[in-house]
Amino acid sequence: MTTELLFRDDAYRRSASAHVVAVHERGIELDRTIFYPQGGGQVGDTGVFVRENGERIRIADTRKGDALDSVVHVPDAAMPVPEAGETLTLELDWPRRHALMRLHTALHVMSCVVVAPVTGGNISPDKARLDFDIDMSLLDAAHIERETNALIARGVATETVWITDAELDLRPELVKTMSVQPPRGSGRVRLLRIPGIDLQPCGGTHVANIAEIGGIRVLKIRSEGRRNRRVEIALAG
Ligand SMILES: [Zn+2]
Repeated sequence: MTTELLFRDDAYRRSASAHVVAVHERGIELDRTIFYPQGGGQVGDTGVFVRENGERIRIADTRKGDALDSVVHVPDAAMPVPEAGETLTLELDWPRRHALMRLHTALHVMSCVVVAPVTGGNISPDKARLDFDIDMSLLDAAHIERETNALIARGVATETVWITDAELDLRPELVKTMSVQPPRGSGRVRLLRIPGIDLQPCGGTHVANIAEIGGIRVLKIRSEGRRNRRVEIALAG
């Protein structure tokens, strides 16, 4: 069953009401959600579902379901279980999600400072990383930090753009990430555009203006294999 993905059009939505569509061993499915399911290197959202009787159900993780655009919300163990048809108020753990949005968008900016194929990546609330297929001697932490922060300081507004699968096929240069092909099957692909800086397929959650990132610092650079030179960052403040 498809879930309406409210975060796709508005990543800043912190609460919403939704109906329970199904409850099964993996978790809770809703007709609509503001919770981002783990994917594209970004961890799943956490938060709380509030029942009409005021009972609170803590959500420990969010994952993709079996169907395209379906989302499974994973409650903490020992939480009450809602029933199909029930109305819930969804409340996102917003400080955590906002940190994810800032770090995620920071990786887009950094991928334009380190110009090399991206072979992997991960975004958690306290740090994020990209792996590059590049010679170690070309990675300098001070340079990456300085140049990324200089771009962030431009304060550019981000834009979401949709193109068709066929249009993407004609522009393979848009796909920087070798390990994650953009999701296909719905006939269209979502792109994140940071005008003058970056344009690439991405289904994740981003800040509206890169100034919101504030700044980054490079935590470490290390080799995880010949094609995986890992650059790990955190928010500067
Ligand atoms: Zn993204």
